[in-house]
Amino acid sequence: MDIKEQILTLRNELDQHNYNYYVLDRPTISDFEFDSKMKQLKDLEEANPEFFDSNSPTQRVGGAITKNFETVVHSHRMYSLDNSYSKEDLLDWENRIKKIVDGKVQYTCELKYDGASISITYQDGHLVRAVTRGDGFQGDDVTANIKTVRSVPLKLKGDFPPLFDIRGEIILPFDGFDKMNEERIEIGEEPYRNPRNTASGSLKLQDSSEVAKRPLQCLLYNITGKNLGIATQYEGLEKARQWGFKVPTAAQLADSMEAVFDFIDHWNLHRHDLPYETDGVVVKVNDLRQQEELGYTAKSPRWAMAYKFKAEQVSTRLNSITYQVGRTGAITPVANLEPVNLAGTIVKRASLHNADQIEKLDIRVGDEVFVEKGGEIIPKIIAVDLSKRDQNSKPTQYITHCPECETQLVRVEGEAQHYCPNYNACKPQIIGRIQHFISRKAMDIEGLGGETVALLVNVGLVENYSDLYQLQKEQIVPLERMAEKSSENLVLSIEASKKVPFERVLFALGIRYVGETVAKKLARHYKSIEALQKATMLNLVTVDEIGVKIAESVVEFFASEKNRNIIERLKSFGVQLELDSKLLANQTDKLKGKVFVVSGVFESLSRDELKKLIEENGGKVSGSISSKTNFIVAGENMGPSKKEKADLLGVPIIDENKFKELIK
Ligand code: AMP
Ligand code: ZN
Repeated sequence: MDIKEQILTLRNELDQHNYNYYVLDRPTISDFEFDSKMKQLKDLEEANPEFFDSNSPTQRVGGAITKNFETVVHSHRMYSLDNSYSKEDLLDWENRIKKIVDGKVQYTCELKYDGASISITYQDGHLVRAVTRGDGFQGDDVTANIKTVRSVPLKLKGDFPPLFDIRGEIILPFDGFDKMNEERIEIGEEPYRNPRNTASGSLKLQDSSEVAKRPLQCLLYNITGKNLGIATQYEGLEKARQWGFKVPTAAQLADSMEAVFDFIDHWNLHRHDLPYETDGVVVKVNDLRQQEELGYTAKSPRWAMAYKFKAEQVSTRLNSITYQVGRTGAITPVANLEPVNLAGTIVKRASLHNADQIEKLDIRVGDEVFVEKGGEIIPKIIAVDLSKRDQNSKPTQYITHCPECETQLVRVEGEAQHYCPNYNACKPQIIGRIQHFISRKAMDIEGLGGETVALLVNVGLVENYSDLYQLQKEQIVPLERMAEKSSENLVLSIEASKKVPFERVLFALGIRYVGETVAKKLARHYKSIEALQKATMLNLVTVDEIGVKIAESVVEFFASEKNRNIIERLKSFGVQLELDSKLLANQTDKLKGKVFVVSGVFESLSRDELKKLIEENGGKVSGSISSKTNFIVAGENMGPSKKEKADLLGVPIIDENKFKELIK
């Protein structure tokens, strides 16, 4: 087999395994085998860049950055759906239909998936573009992000039309959502509120490799285009499935409204068994010719109707409100409820979000409250049953002082949350900060669970994260649940963290608003903690993407003598507080302020290497050409549409050799 054949064979195999795993949920090889095939393909592609293909399974990990999503007009408008809330509504709808079409009407019943809608265009079996719904007439081009969703086929199988759009819903299944939140909590970030908003927010992330890390799925429900050779909605679903799309099998034909009601009743009961959120059923006239006859109103098709499930609600007593203090000092009020069964689970707590929310609903301890389960993991209180309110009850007084350290709380103008400002001595903040410091994406110190951190703080062995580096095995062994071996491992793991690069150390420090990305930006710009410490507000805001809020927080952090001492200590223990000199050696400011677009494949270096070179020399890489682009670095196989656009905007196109001259 020659190289090209090897590459094509591997791509086909991996496409099929992706399909088995993500579309059929029936993997036929182990993860390990899959990974090693993927690595094989990646190596081959890197060694033979002339066979680059943007639809190769290796491209699923993303990497393209989109700064501004391009607006695209939908070739067919993306309509809304009319809603119905009762069987009577549906019968009325049927009567309206029967006035327009003659003969028998059959329906397709589908679940209504709760996510973000998407329209994907396929040409000659290849994914060419994915666009959000937007206002229905035009949306944003999010192709780079959608390509990372594993259940979206990049290439189709079987007998597909040469050109069509397919519409579906990008969703985040519950288990993936939970896993994402576990990771968020681990690094001290607010968990995401619900799967739908998280799915829809994911589509607009600038970094497609971040999207690739999210376990999104795409469920399809509609094919549009000309001359598709499809006669009914149901047939469309079946065909889409054959071409490799993920189309849930719950869809059913119904010969009458009676049968539609059966479908609704069934799923009203069983929707909680599904691995993802649904908020109703969509009923569609099955025959596409009848659909055409029925046409559209100004907003929605006359041939479809959504039936919304009633959100499940119960009422129960609010026993008390407690206030939790997070690592940044943010206060979260929590409602403790009389335990009650809601949609099959016992609910004891509900989130109250903040003081405004409590005031708005006038929630008081002792009230009978209505609790609802939406897409959120923690249910929420939606109203108070005023008829049951005790006459002597008084409005809730939000706390004014920290429940942990009794410091007076502050609330920044324009922010919803109250904060405890006692940064240095408020226990949950001290513990939370250390937990953040050791977390996986920060210093990655293994063998130190959250409870052990609390223990170390409580017995006085550790006051702040710099104290970790002085811990002796002998001090740890006597602690609860710590044995000889685990103590030894812990000390080793702390020692190993001295090798963690500066940008992660900066993130680990837990400066408010300095997340992973901001830490990276600051580390690259200032190169050492000393330089960052000296930076003024004015200087900080000149750094790309650093705003006033972040700058203020950084200045405030270093203004504290205590923080400066902690950093001195970290330095004395050998923690990395400047960029690696090897990295530094390559860095210049030669491309400062210049925006590059990289297109095609290159002879002497990979696309990733090229992008890294641009960034190391102070330039920026963008995914799409705009008037802000300064150069396009083009290799072989530059896309024709890119070329056209570059010519139109007069952006110079340079090759890899010219590029190398720029940074010489
Ligand atoms: P609405 O946003 O309430 O007007 O509902 C319309 C939206 O429901 C569409 O834009 C789709 O994104 C979504 N939807 C979810 N499941 C389906 C389905 N099976 N058929 C059609 N639309 C669906
Ligand atoms: Zn406090």
